[in-house]
Amino acid sequence: MSAPNRREMLGTLGTLAAAGGWIGLTAEETAAQTPSSPTPSGPREYKLPPLPYPADALEPHIDAQTMTLHHDKHHAAYVKGLNDAIAKLASASQGGASSAGLDSIREATESLSFNGSGHTLHTVFWENMKKGGGGEAKGNIGKQIASDFGGFANFQAHFSTAAKKVHGSGWGILAWEPLGARLIVLGAEKHQNMTMFGCVPILVLDVWEHAYYLKYQNNRGGYVDAFWNVVNWDNVESRLAGAMKLTS
Ligand code: MN
Repeated sequence: MSAPNRREMLGTLGTLAAAGGWIGLTAEETAAQTPSSPTPSGPREYKLPPLPYPADALEPHIDAQTMTLHHDKHHAAYVKGLNDAIAKLASASQGGASSAGLDSIREATESLSFNGSGHTLHTVFWENMKKGGGGEAKGNIGKQIASDFGGFANFQAHFSTAAKKVHGSGWGILAWEPLGARLIVLGAEKHQNMTMFGCVPILVLDVWEHAYYLKYQNNRGGYVDAFWNVVNWDNVESRLAGAMKLTS
């Protein structure tokens, strides 16, 4: 019998762990999302991961008060919303086809998409940044960016413009697109709109007003430009490698 490939091995870890890998979470993050009790009847709650650095680590580019509110209040609300949506859907579906609870399926499914995408993107976002980050992408991520965008400056301008021009609240996202085997830039609205299935986000920038308004007020562009000083390219590099393996 041949050795199991990575996808088969992931399958043995359970649906949630595999889903975590699919959207590009590290093994540590995946473990944080996996219920402590994997039995079907046990608790299956998503958890708020801690910030990987002190709240003031990204000063002066992103201020400590914004980071604290953003993580402790906003991200926490998405985790709660996701858990509430899962619970509502479980309750509705367990009632069977004749259940009156099915009437709430559409609303709860929308909440699942919104809050689940919000939880996923924030989890990636915190790790995409570090104190003393920035500079140009090197290594494989640098080569892939050069190949797919014609150079780092082209990519940076493309990503910045996509993030600055998001209508209302949303995200700039650099993602691995497995069908075409290329990097693409998305400008997601809210957390779940204007995205593409199958893509694995590897570098994301939150451009909801809650991410910058205390320090930058209406100057979203200044915040987007400052983001390049805190990008953790080592983290983006490892996410690219993970995304390529999982989707090959
Ligand atoms: Mn946010």
